[in-house]
Amino acid sequence: MAGTNGFKGNKASLPSKPCLVCGRDMVWRKSWAKNWADVKYCSDACRARKSVTPEAPRAAP
Ligand SMILES: [Zn+2]
Repeated sequence: MAGTNGFKGNKASLPSKPCLVCGRDMVWRKSWAKNWADVKYCSDACRARKSVTPEAPRAAP
């Protein structure tokens, strides 16, 4: 797709990124301020769906 207008004109210039499960754009929320870099799913539903995959529950470095 040749998209020259990638900017959709958000109200504010809040950061956003796609959900890893459903691909929906997640717009920055205040509740995510502390862990925005760690947010990967738009909702608990997507997070639960993702957790279905056989993967290590949590790998602490
Ligand atoms: Zn999602």
